[in-house]
Amino acid sequence: MNQIESPKQTGARPFPTGVDLLHDPILNKGMAFTAEEREQFQLRGLLPPRVLTQDLQAERVLRNFHKKPNDLEKYIFLLSLEDRNEALFYRVVMDNLMEMMPIIYTPTVGQACLEFGNIFRRPRGLYISAEDRGRIAEILRHWPHDDVRVVVITDGERILGLGDLGAHGMGIPVGKLSLYTACAGIDPATTLPVTLDVGTNNQKLLDDPFYIGLPQNRLRGETYDALVDEFMTAVTARFPHALIQFEDFSNQNAFRLLHKYRDQYRTFNDDIQGTAGVALAGLYSALRLTGGRLSDQRLLFLGAGEAGIGIADLVVSAMMQEGATAEAARQQCWFVDSRGLVESSRTDLAEHKLPYAHDHAPLTTFLEAVETLRPTAIIGVSGMPRMFTQPVVEAMARLNEKPIIFALSNPTANSECTAEQAYSWTNGRAIFASGSPFDPVELHGRTYIPGQGNNSYIFPGVGLGVVATGARQVTDDMFLAAAQTLAHLVTEDDLAAGLIYPSLKRIREVSAHIATAVAEIAYAHELATVPRPGNLLTFMQNRMYQPVYREGVSR
Ligand code: NAD
Repeated sequence: MNQIESPKQTGARPFPTGVDLLHDPILNKGMAFTAEEREQFQLRGLLPPRVLTQDLQAERVLRNFHKKPNDLEKYIFLLSLEDRNEALFYRVVMDNLMEMMPIIYTPTVGQACLEFGNIFRRPRGLYISAEDRGRIAEILRHWPHDDVRVVVITDGERILGLGDLGAHGMGIPVGKLSLYTACAGIDPATTLPVTLDVGTNNQKLLDDPFYIGLPQNRLRGETYDALVDEFMTAVTARFPHALIQFEDFSNQNAFRLLHKYRDQYRTFNDDIQGTAGVALAGLYSALRLTGGRLSDQRLLFLGAGEAGIGIADLVVSAMMQEGATAEAARQQCWFVDSRGLVESSRTDLAEHKLPYAHDHAPLTTFLEAVETLRPTAIIGVSGMPRMFTQPVVEAMARLNEKPIIFALSNPTANSECTAEQAYSWTNGRAIFASGSPFDPVELHGRTYIPGQGNNSYIFPGVGLGVVATGARQVTDDMFLAAAQTLAHLVTEDDLAAGLIYPSLKRIREVSAHIATAVAEIAYAHELATVPRPGNLLTFMQNRMYQPVYREGVSR
């Protein structure tokens, strides 16, 4: 990695020397260029004479990082390092992942998107706008790298829990791709963040002179669809090996586009499928504590959007793998949305909710639904804070020896209940997971460590498996295998402490195992286009990018 001698790294362009080399973030080593390299690449005089090791550079970066007064400043500092010296950026991020993840991704990236127009310095990624209709292929040719393997695209309509941020949503594909590299070793030179700027309906942004996107309302209908179609055709022609991940589209487009493209392109939607994988893994781990099979569980969801329906669809596939029929499996999944129980007499239901509109009398409140349906697990994906009230959680504790309570809404302030509430209202019997991290809870002399259902456990490993095998499609079976693999990596010690996910410190190991499981599916279902290697796990581990400077450079 970072092989200075490889002309492929910079596409067909001539290999840079001098200032051009220092300004190339993929090749730049800053003061770590050796005396020999300085001679060879005409760098003498352009750098201070001292040669530093990457260890020392990393130490200096970390010191300066800690001096920054707030998280947004830390984000700006790290992103400008990424612009200068990618290997050093990843070295610092990967060596300090627990500290860096909340800066390069949620929650800080949300703040960065809100401030995007103000903190904008150098562009990253590609902006394709409604005005580029008919010219997308030409714009994709402007990207300087030919070997793109992972594209993350957003249209900025539903950025995290923050709503429509238009072109300011670019922070999301940029951040997500950093996680692909940090968590699963996808080579950063092969990643491409894309914002499809179709306008915004956010009046505040439209009125803001520093808004970076098209100052117009969102395209809808056929014009919108035609633009996305043109993008999919052009990006696949230009980068035939690329995986295309959809991120933070509103649910009116997300489900539709997923169903339209999933059989035709190498694509998936992380908000729907990645979330499903991580939640299902949590359920499998929880079953190691409660006993029983998945198909015997009754799940009640609060919120029937991308996350909720995505989870239920994957749970249904998993129950079917245990032998249940699709109909029986769906009957185990129930939803309450903003208008009450999702049931068959309702006439206001969006298409994605219909498979879960079972025959039942209307119910208005979530508590009523808990008392009537007697679920073994409740899963909060409504974005609405504190909806798992004390009576709800106490009812779950009355109905179940070990109630499963997942409060997945982000950020922390929107969580359906806190970890402390879940444990104290169930007298320590809850099996709890949240979307945003909570501190450990002390109760009756015992420490409970709440699990975080972070999508980063799933999507980077799935991406690595798909890219490494050249799988033509991304299937639900791959997410199922990813969930099962993640759950298997939870140790008995983790479970004893209440943790239903492995430590994020093990993320690269986790991703390598998930990639291996995904590859097994790709080969078994004849989706792979790369010949099967001898040992899949070793193959995945060897492919993973390491943020080190290569020694002994020669051209
Ligand atoms: P979405 O907009 O697609 O869906 C939200 C759903 O909640 C809709 O069905 C809406 O009708 C429902 N809802 C709104 N108010 C409600 C109320 N008062 N009572 C009941 N239902 C209500 O959003 P999404 O992508 O599904 O995300 C939902 C939440 O899940 C967000 O907070 C998001 O941060 C979180 N999430 C967490 C993870 C994770 O933990 N790994 C992953 C994805 C999403």
